[in-house]
Amino acid sequence: MECDDYQRAALRTARDKDAPDEFMHLVLGLVGEAGEIAEKVKKLVRDHDSDLAMLDRDDMAAELGDVLWYAAVLASFVPAWVHIIFGVSFAALGSVSPRLGSWYSARRLKAMGS
Ligand SMILES: [Mg+2]
Repeated sequence: MECDDYQRAALRTARDKDAPDEFMHLVLGLVGEAGEIAEKVKKLVRDHDSDLAMLDRDDMAAELGDVLWYAAVLASFVPAWVHIIFGVSFAALGSVSPRLGSWYSARRLKAMGS
């Protein structure tokens, strides 16, 4: 599945983009899901001496999926598809492949009207 496929699927389960306060709802949802991850890690630190072997990986994967869902839907509010945002993220990490880098540059130039 490509990331824009994922975004389209996420948008099918999202509220209408024009619903009242939808942007704020999504931002708060994203922060809430990140908070759920922090809470689970806090309990891992408090109760299990930060032993990652004690981490419920399925539960963490579900929470990360929730974060991904909010990020994908939020991305629909900016004039870029989620794969462009992923491209920015890859580039920021210095891990963008030459192929993706040139694809991303072409898309960015096109979006800027160049
Ligand atoms: Mg959750």
